[in-house]
Amino acid sequence: MDQNDSHDEFHDNAATGIPSIANGRSKRDSKHFKARKLFRRGMVAGILLVASLATPVAFGQQLLTFEGSVQVSVRALSQLDFWKPEGSVSDSGPKPEGRAVRLRGEIGGGFAVNATSLAMDWRQVESIGLWLHRSAEEAKEHPTVELVLRLSEEDQKASFWRRLEVSHVGWQKLVLPLEWFVWSDGRMPRWEKVKFVGVQLRDPATVTLDTVWTEPSAQPRDEFLATESLTKLAFPKLDSSNIRTLETRDVQLVTNAKSLELERLATHLGTVAQRLHRELPFLSKPSRGAVLFVFQERAEYQRFAPRIARQLNSRLDPPEAGGYTLQGISSSWWDEKQGSLRPVYTHEFVHGYLSRTLPLSTTGDWLQEGLAAHIQLEFHPQENLSQLVRDGLKSSSTPFAELCSGRPIHTSRYWQAATLWRMLINEPRYQAKLKDLVERLAAANSTDLGPHLEPLWGTNFDKLTSDWRAFCEMQFRRDE
Ligand SMILES: [Zn+2]
Repeated sequence: MDQNDSHDEFHDNAATGIPSIANGRSKRDSKHFKARKLFRRGMVAGILLVASLATPVAFGQQLLTFEGSVQVSVRALSQLDFWKPEGSVSDSGPKPEGRAVRLRGEIGGGFAVNATSLAMDWRQVESIGLWLHRSAEEAKEHPTVELVLRLSEEDQKASFWRRLEVSHVGWQKLVLPLEWFVWSDGRMPRWEKVKFVGVQLRDPATVTLDTVWTEPSAQPRDEFLATESLTKLAFPKLDSSNIRTLETRDVQLVTNAKSLELERLATHLGTVAQRLHRELPFLSKPSRGAVLFVFQERAEYQRFAPRIARQLNSRLDPPEAGGYTLQGISSSWWDEKQGSLRPVYTHEFVHGYLSRTLPLSTTGDWLQEGLAAHIQLEFHPQENLSQLVRDGLKSSSTPFAELCSGRPIHTSRYWQAATLWRMLINEPRYQAKLKDLVERLAAANSTDLGPHLEPLWGTNFDKLTSDWRAFCEMQFRRDE
């Protein structure tokens, strides 16, 4: 592998898509960011005692209407009331009946209702259904309205969400498969902990909801997209005889690349997983290995992540980088020159593996990119690394407060996050507290490192920076 290639690999995964997943329609990012912030602040403007009726209507199907007394928490910038819209529906399934809950609000407004009566275990649920009503006046005032349906854990920080866009008049039935919900950022959401169903407005709007229900799943699901549905998405036209798969304890490989040596790659990624467990001994064992798709053609690879994003009702530009990982699903393509052990496969595998073993759902931040780049460099050493680090120390390091804020980092800063992890793992004083660090980051629902420096290590960013500089000067000496 020549230096340009390795450099290119080191700077893979320019995370172009993450902001649009997080914020929905990309054109309106700033607006959505504002909305998210408002929602995140989580102001509970009031608690209403409303309807309580959760009646089993059919085997395995639970129903939530707004007739009796269910606890509803209402966000700021919103008003809730109860009414019975005109008009009925003909449908063989659950129907809107009696009182419905009407939400009027600004961007960021919304409400959440305790949904424990809907499902004892959301891993056993295939999809969630609900009826949504808009009056003719509302449709005239706000022709198209964007909102988010959110299934949240008890503290309402970690959630699964799906963007909805409505432009109808009258009642509309929505049935949403839980497989295609987006993870909230920060702490990894868990289906077994979901307690609330909520609606959050991304436009000023008035919407009425009634009769929420769940449809049981034939098989229990986990937080990850099923490999089978992903394979259909990856190869919509391809004859299945051209697709090869290999699943080991650590990895699920799917490929149509003719020359890829599956066994060899799986064995290699097994040693990568072992290394991760050795360097981060507190990592849990995943129940199933990380998924990696290797496409024969770059163009196929570039279509894949945007297709997943569409299924999640979001959008994503085709990735330009050598590899890409979205909700723990990694993909790359076949490059004859680099063969079956292409460095970017290692890099993306680390992302996928960490998403199954860490209690964090963050992507593109110092933690994910730093660890992926660090492990990649251990398995695929880069000849110019010492020079790159020495130059970086002289001229262009980013303050750690900024780099480690939890926001996505630029590919040109991967070296810095990687060397920070090299220090955290190799210096016993830091290593000893990494388990606590991960627990603290999950509890804080953010991978912002700042708040944990003092309690864990009695340090601050200035001291961390001087430790890191000293470490790098030792590790990347000129005569090395
Ligand atoms: Zn990466």
